[in-house]
Amino acid sequence: TALCAAGIVAALLAFFWKDPFDPESLSGARVLLTGASAGIGEQMAYHYCRFGAEVVVTARREAVLREVAEKCKTLGAKKILYIPADMSSPSEPERVVQFAVQKLGGLDYLVLNHIAANRFQMWDGDVEYTRRLMQVNFFSYVALATAALQTLERSNGSLVVVSSLAGRIPTPFTTSYSASKFALDGFFTSLRHELAMQKRNVSVTLCILGLIDTASALENTRGKVYMTASPAPEAALAIIRGGAMRVQELFYPWLLQHVCQLWVLFPSNRDRVLQSYYNYSSP
Ligand code: NDP
Repeated sequence: TALCAAGIVAALLAFFWKDPFDPESLSGARVLLTGASAGIGEQMAYHYCRFGAEVVVTARREAVLREVAEKCKTLGAKKILYIPADMSSPSEPERVVQFAVQKLGGLDYLVLNHIAANRFQMWDGDVEYTRRLMQVNFFSYVALATAALQTLERSNGSLVVVSSLAGRIPTPFTTSYSASKFALDGFFTSLRHELAMQKRNVSVTLCILGLIDTASALENTRGKVYMTASPAPEAALAIIRGGAMRVQELFYPWLLQHVCQLWVLFPSNRDRVLQSYYNYSSP
């Protein structure tokens, strides 16, 4: 009887529950997507194109961007353009936004996703490395958002910022990376408040991701972290859904939301729990 009741509840839920995500809303949406030559960004490019969005992708490697654009065309892309740019250069964010606005005639989504190569090792005192990481992972996000804000406002658009669990819970081997992700949280959460205070209708979605099976993440964490990596295409879709539904914070996998809550609620146990996921023991 219990099984039967559960089956009935599930059937009723399936009947009455309406997915708040409407894929149609992305048809014709104008998207600028960074870090799209690999990993989660590449998968987001494919999803957006399948949904009928008009997309500009960017990253440093032109040849790889061309391949991504070709694949997008085979998936039925309405419009796909690419612009190679290195976000360690302070002048590039504005140039990239101008290109996208000019080619697409405006912007509905700015999806900030790129990151500099991360060493995933113990802090060795290299301050210049931290500066570089902050430039690519944080300052270029601020500059891209600044350059795009007025255009996004005209379309009641969305800013989607890809962050990490390391931007909520500091973990070993991620000193500079973690700092750059905490900075994103601080800046874009504060900006969300200010936009609301000024009644400017631009949504800000901060995406908190756990370990995802991209080549760079798997390479970095091999032998150091005991955690199952989630699939990049699924993470990419979760980000796109979160942005389209204008949620303030998107957690993927969803369980991370509760992990973050428990982290705050139980400070005395958290280091022990965290250590169990890492290949190290405290002195
Ligand atoms: P990848 O390393 O797979 O891809 C990074 C992208 O950024 C590439 O397209 C790369 O292209 C681009 N990039 C690197 N340096 C620069 C630069 N200087 N200027 C412009 N673009 C650059 O990253 P993931 O897909 O793994 O991560 C995507 C996002 O998800 C990141 O924000 C990351 O922090 C977040 N995240 C990922 C997790 C994971 O486990 N994978 C976990 C938590 C969060 P190119 O080399 O051509 O420039």
